[in-house]
Amino acid sequence: MMERNMTRDDLIHSLDVLPFSRLVWNSEAARTKWEPVIGAVASLHDRAEYEMVRLGKRKCGTLHLAPHNFHVLIERLKKDGMVWLPIQWSKNYSGFAHYHLPTTVGDPNSSCYGVMARNLEDAEAFRTASAYNGRNAGKVDHEVIGELLGFPPCCAKFFVEEWGNGFFDPVWQSAVRGNGVMVGDRTLEVEGNVFTNQMLRYFGFRITSHFPCSLNCEATKEVGEVWLDVMKKMDADLADLLVEILEMPLIWSCLHGIAIVETPIFTIITNSLPTKESWTVMYNAPGKPKASAELIPLGSDVDYDKLTEAMVEQLQWRR
Ligand SMILES: [Zn+2]
Repeated sequence: MMERNMTRDDLIHSLDVLPFSRLVWNSEAARTKWEPVIGAVASLHDRAEYEMVRLGKRKCGTLHLAPHNFHVLIERLKKDGMVWLPIQWSKNYSGFAHYHLPTTVGDPNSSCYGVMARNLEDAEAFRTASAYNGRNAGKVDHEVIGELLGFPPCCAKFFVEEWGNGFFDPVWQSAVRGNGVMVGDRTLEVEGNVFTNQMLRYFGFRITSHFPCSLNCEATKEVGEVWLDVMKKMDADLADLLVEILEMPLIWSCLHGIAIVETPIFTIITNSLPTKESWTVMYNAPGKPKASAELIPLGSDVDYDKLTEAMVEQLQWRR
């Protein structure tokens, strides 16, 4: 029986890697084609989140106001008849954080996390559920938050459970509940789709804003169609490029708090679960080239015996 269930014992509980994310181009050709547009594609989801709230397709959204952009955002919110309430200041970071990084008053390298909505009632409900400033202390109500953000109930329930088990980045957990096939110890090959693929979100590439309960969750596809429609109306070309990125085969691999996500054009390195061993998801989109054919799993082309030999030789020489 191949190992497939990640348990709390598979994590190193004393290890916490600070948020970071890097994107490395795999070739000069890929960089030339994609670099001019990649930033705009990566920010499409966040811009669409604003539109989703403005258009009444979800009640609330999250929005960071920072010293450099608050005047622009406040004006836009005001003109669109929307409200924004602050929840918490935190230090700026790239990548994703599963908690807010502490900051000090007046720190220019910080931003204020908050909630946007079309009315104060929804915004207040979200803020209360977020356990803001000790109200409702320590009891974040993820289910209320999920409902206000328009997450499917099946996925909200899944996320609350996995979060509670310490899996704050439940990529493996959502992949293993799909139609995946184990192809090795802690290695899963699975078919998903652009709406359930959250494995590139570390850099902003996502259509939906929630973790799916499985890579073939039907409710997520329904929500995803609404998002994609909004994105296409905002910028059809960018939406097409985002779909193209989310349909690429990829290999997500996690070890010791670092996840590496390989695609045919770039590789993302980011913080994730502090696993003791390496856990790997090979993702394929329907009708697209397979990860197993297009990509070489990181490290699989390394001859470790030869590497050790070379190391020993070098060390002897240094002596
Ligand atoms: Zn679901």
